[in-house]
Amino acid sequence: MTTPLPVGPMGRCPQCSKPSLIAPANPWRPFCSERCKLIDLGDWMNGRFVIPVEPSADSDDYGPEDLPPRQ
Ligand SMILES: [Zn+2]
Repeated sequence: MTTPLPVGPMGRCPQCSKPSLIAPANPWRPFCSERCKLIDLGDWMNGRFVIPVEPSADSDDYGPEDLPPRQ
């Protein structure tokens, strides 16, 4: 039996403190799993950080009225 070598640097999951792979092979880094990442995102949404509301990209801010007159 051989222990599989880690494919990248190991870190610690900020959510559950378990070892997690800090490498592109881990799409949820620095978390150990998708679950931990979602939990952390949930904390964000619960107001740990304020996320500014951006104006709609579909507004008419860039409509023809705002363009300089063609020559
Ligand atoms: Zn975790």
